[in-house]
Amino acid sequence: MNIIIFGPPGAGKGTQSDKIANKYKLFKISTGDLLRNEIKNSTLLGKKIEEIVNSGILVSDNVINDLIEKVVSNNKYKNQIIFDGYPRNIQQAKNLNALLKKHEQKIDLVINLKVSLDLITKRIIGRLVCSKCGNIFNEFFNPPTQKLTCCKDGALKRRSDDNVETVKKRYETYENSTKPLLEYYSKLGLLKNIGGENKIEEIGAKIAGFINLIQG
Ligand code: ADP
Repeated sequence: MNIIIFGPPGAGKGTQSDKIANKYKLFKISTGDLLRNEIKNSTLLGKKIEEIVNSGILVSDNVINDLIEKVVSNNKYKNQIIFDGYPRNIQQAKNLNALLKKHEQKIDLVINLKVSLDLITKRIIGRLVCSKCGNIFNEFFNPPTQKLTCCKDGALKRRSDDNVETVKKRYETYENSTKPLLEYYSKLGLLKNIGGENKIEEIGAKIAGFINLIQG
């Protein structure tokens, strides 16, 4: 089973895909995380893309396609992937299709999380990420507590692109480049819409319902 989790920035894709990955023993592949890793490790690629990511526009398709090919061609991940924040435009979706086909796989389900712009902004501005384990919190909606031992030693940090100006640009990029994918996956009969404004657990339960349906 390969799944795509889709939605505007701040829709809760990362939070939900972590949960699904745990529950169904899938590998979460977030192109955003892969890119941030390159930036953090100051690789040649990281140095090239830092400015792009911080300005809220898309990194070039070639870069993304290379990163994804490494994943899809790796047998370890075969048919156990949840793509978070990828594909981001029609070109990437077509490339993913071709790659999956080449490696005898396909997409089984596309989950679309629907959230209003107002809420998105609040979620992004309040987002805190554990620098050690990557766990995602929100200072307004899902504040960290002492009980969360996984973050005992990890500092909670804000992403450098989680600020009001960049959020606007990221949303614009989503509207122009990414949203058209909804029609693309809807035509393929793979798209399921979920209201992303409900509680984390409620959304998780709905996603699980769709996954259980395709698992039969
Ligand atoms: P969000 O979806 O919440 O904005 P991500 O972590 O998915 O956050 O992405 C952060 C940034 O990384 C994007 O604004 C973009 O610059 C870059 N990025 C992530 N995924 C892709 C992709 N598939 N194609 C191009 N750029 C990407």
